[in-house]
Amino acid sequence: MHTVQPPPIDNAVRDRDETLPRAELEALQLTRLREVVERVAHVPFYREAFALRGITARTIKSLDDLRRLPFTTKDDLRRHHPLGFITVPREQLARIHGSSGTTGKPTFVAYTAKDLQTWSDLCARFLVAGGLQPRHTVHVAFGYGLFTGGFGLHYGIEKVGAAVVPAASGNTRRQIEIIQDLGAEVLVCTPSYALTIAETAREMGIDPRRLPLKFGHFGAEPWTEEMRQQIEADLDILAFNNYGLSEVIGPGVSGECAHRDGMHIQEDHFLVECLDPDTLESVGDGEEGELVFTALTKEAMPLLRYRTRDIARLTREPCACGRTTVRMSRVTGRTDDMLIIRGVNVFPSQIEEALLRVEGTTPHYMIEVERPGTLDQLTVKVEVLPELLSDRMDRMQRLKDRIGKEILTVAGIRANVELAAPRTLERFTGKAKRVVDKRGQN
Ligand code: ADP
Ligand code: ZN
Repeated sequence: MHTVQPPPIDNAVRDRDETLPRAELEALQLTRLREVVERVAHVPFYREAFALRGITARTIKSLDDLRRLPFTTKDDLRRHHPLGFITVPREQLARIHGSSGTTGKPTFVAYTAKDLQTWSDLCARFLVAGGLQPRHTVHVAFGYGLFTGGFGLHYGIEKVGAAVVPAASGNTRRQIEIIQDLGAEVLVCTPSYALTIAETAREMGIDPRRLPLKFGHFGAEPWTEEMRQQIEADLDILAFNNYGLSEVIGPGVSGECAHRDGMHIQEDHFLVECLDPDTLESVGDGEEGELVFTALTKEAMPLLRYRTRDIARLTREPCACGRTTVRMSRVTGRTDDMLIIRGVNVFPSQIEEALLRVEGTTPHYMIEVERPGTLDQLTVKVEVLPELLSDRMDRMQRLKDRIGKEILTVAGIRANVELAAPRTLERFTGKAKRVVDKRGQN
C-alpha cells in the first residue's frame, strides 16, 4: 500500500491574472492580440499572409478575428530556418533554444531578456499551483541544453525562491545519491525518467519510497493516468503534469493546480484553439482536437496559430482552485505519433493504458510495427514483474492473452505480445522513444 496523501489543496495562486473574470481576461487578450499582430507584421511569412487577407492590427476587432489569421506549422519554421520568424534585431536576442527534434531536424526558437522573464513567471505559476514553496529544494533531472525543459524549469524554480539542484540528465545512481544527500522534496523530469529513478534506487538497495521526495512536476512527453499512479506508488509522491513546447515558449504553457483535474492554460499569454486536424474547424469543449496556440506577449518570436499536432480536449468548467483559465486534458498523442495499423488509428498512449491495466506488467514497453507481407503487424513488448516470470508456459500464455485482450479493448487492434524480462528494454533519460516503425524499410 502506498501512502500518498490527497493533494495539498491550498489553491495557491501566484498572479492575479490567473483569476481574472472572463470578460476582463478577454479584453486583455484582445489588446494583446492586436499588439502581437502589429509586432509580427514585418516578419516576411506573416507580411505576405496579412497582405493576402487584408489583415492589419486595426482590423482585429474581436477575439473571433483570430480565425482570420494564418496558421503556422513546423514546416513553416523549417522553411525559414534558422531564425526567419524573429521580430527584433538579432542583437536584442538573449537566448536561443531548439525543439528536441523528436520529429526531424531541430528548429530554433529565440527569446529576448523580457521573454525570459515572462517564461520564468509562467513556470513559477504552475510550480506554485502544484505546491512549490520557497523553502523547498528541487532536483531537476531534465537535460540542460537546447531543450527548453531544463532551463525553463530552472529559472521558474528560482523565481519561486526555492533552491534548485541542476542535476541534468544521466548517471541515475549519482542522481539518487544527490537526492538523498540534499534532501530534495521535489523532482522535475520526464515521467518515464521518474520511473527509471525508482527502479534504479531499488537496484541500489534503496527503497524509492523512502527518498525525501514529496512531489514531482513531470512533462515533456505524453503519459497516462495509469502511469501517474505507478509513479506515485513507486516514489510515494504526488505527481503533477505540466505541458509546453518550444515553439510556443517551452514548459509553462499549462500545468495542473492542486486539484489535478486538467492543466490550466496560461491564457493571459496564449490564446488556445482546439481544432479538427483535417477540417481545421473548432471542435466543441470536451472533444478531442489538435491544440493551436497564439503567443500574445512574446517579443522575439511570437507565433500565430501554431499547430502543435498535440491532441487533447479543453474544458471551461470552473475549477475549484479559483483560476478562471481554460484547462486542457492530458495530451493523448501527437498527430504525427499516431500509427495507422491495418487502417486503425492507434496512439502509443492507448497501448500504455492497456498494459498498465493488467497486473504484473510494468510501464517499460516498446511498440514495433512491421509489414512482413501485405499486412501490418503490431508487436508490443513489455517487461513483466520478476515474480511473474515463470517457467510455466501456460501461465505466461495467460498473461499474454490478457494483455492482448486489453489492447484490443482499448485500442481496437490485435497485437502480438512479447513478455520481456525485467531491465531488458531500453531506458530513457529524456523523452521516451517507444515506437519503432519498420514499415517502408524493406
Ligand atoms: P519536440 O517537438 O521536438 O519534441 P519540444 O521539446 O518543444 O520539441 O517538445 C514539445 C512536445 O512535447 C509537445 O508538443 C508535446 O508533444 C510533448 N509534451 C510536452 N509536455 C507534455 C505533457 N505534459 N504531456 C504530453 N506531451 C507533452
Ligand atoms: Zn485549478
